[in-house]
Amino acid sequence: MKLLVTGGAGFIGSNFILYMVRQYPHYQIINVDALTYAGNLENLRSVEQHPNYRFVKADIADRTAMEPLFREGLDAVLNFAAESHVDRSILQPDLFVRTNVLGTQTLLDLAKQYGVGKFVQISTDEVYGTLGETGLFTEETPLAPNSPYSASKAGADLLVRAYHETFGLNVNITRCSNNYGPYQFPEKLIPLMIRNALEDKALPVYGDGLNVRDWLYVEDHCSAIDLVLHQGKRGEVYNIGGNNERTNIEVVKTILTELGKPESLIRFVKDRPGHDRRYGIDATKIRRELGWQPKYDYETGIKETIRWYLEHQDWMEQVVSGAYRQYYELQYRDR
Ligand code: NAD
Repeated sequence: MKLLVTGGAGFIGSNFILYMVRQYPHYQIINVDALTYAGNLENLRSVEQHPNYRFVKADIADRTAMEPLFREGLDAVLNFAAESHVDRSILQPDLFVRTNVLGTQTLLDLAKQYGVGKFVQISTDEVYGTLGETGLFTEETPLAPNSPYSASKAGADLLVRAYHETFGLNVNITRCSNNYGPYQFPEKLIPLMIRNALEDKALPVYGDGLNVRDWLYVEDHCSAIDLVLHQGKRGEVYNIGGNNERTNIEVVKTILTELGKPESLIRFVKDRPGHDRRYGIDATKIRRELGWQPKYDYETGIKETIRWYLEHQDWMEQVVSGAYRQYYELQYRDR
């Protein structure tokens, strides 16, 4: 199989490429990434020299740059590329529409033109909006996004659906809950809190800290996408989640305990506007129809993740300072 993985230098995309090279070393993988602040090729150093892996620096919304890759002939596109941080989407919604909506539509159009066999859109449970104290998101839950980020992801999902309905493109959409694990950019809750705690800085927690997220170890997300790629039924949406709901304050306290730091570092800050109260995923469909099962329980996964960041503090600092990006920009400038 020849796969185009977009956003493969980001958190989930890089974990997915490492996973796929391990599982299917004979597959050809092209990683297309614009290397925004969130993209770090350092994550992929262990596969850089693999004969079936290749990196191309390009913007998914740039049709001229993308078309030659489709002309080569692709079996599948897996679209991870996105602007992904809710807080940034509040500051710069236009950037989110450009990459998440227009970028996805550009890829869909090329996939249609060049007869790509399968298009997997990596979406998020945030497109469903927010839950009250009870209930879970199913694939039938109406889309009701509340942030510019989730609205742009919902817009992309609807375009993916339309390319299936109108043009018969073979698509799947996956909607996963919050991921945690190695290589996550330290603006997101878990790595941010770890980094601040290690430096004895305040840990900013939105509102009352009681917003609930449903956490999944990133490798379990990757194994679900693997199943959807190979066995997903045409046009279907699959929710992915591991039934690990935790309040933000619980997550933060676990991090402090694991690092041996005091709870006095916690600072409650003004809530994020439009902050969704609770996410919870019903993943019955993918479990039943595709036989997916997560491997990691939250208690083990979170401890391993905290240990990974402890052991990779140099990675965190380089990523935050942009040092790797500058290095790779020089490396790839003339290719
Ligand atoms: P990330 O921000 O870590 O990575 C995004 C990657 O996309 C980066 O490498 C960035 O350089 C690249 N990119 C951004 N704009 C681009 C463009 N115009 N062209 C090409 N590349 C571009 O994000 P992530 O957390 O790895 O999320 C990956 C996907 O999974 C996203 O689509 C996101 O919506 C979805 N998702 C994330 C989570 C989560 O918890 N992180 C949960 C569910 C779904």
